[in-house]
Amino acid sequence: MEQCNFCGNQQLVATTTQYTYKRDGQYLIVDDVPCTQCSYCGEAYFEARVLKKIEAEFEAIQSGKKQPKRAVTVPVEGFLELDAA
Ligand SMILES: [Zn+2]
Repeated sequence: MEQCNFCGNQQLVATTTQYTYKRDGQYLIVDDVPCTQCSYCGEAYFEARVLKKIEAEFEAIQSGKKQPKRAVTVPVEGFLELDAA
């Protein structure tokens, strides 16, 4: 990739980031995922093989074949209720 699809910046750096995979209301968060990141807007780009690996891990965990390293509880709010309190 030669430039960022979002902002057109041509400076992209190899790094790692946290990736959140979501499907059918279920989530899998993966740390230290290799990516190429735009140094200007922060948009991260992932190779197809990396995303396939994450998808396979998600399916393994969802089907009970594998246990995740750890799990987190995520708070959920509805925006219309934010001022109610
Ligand atoms: Zn960018």
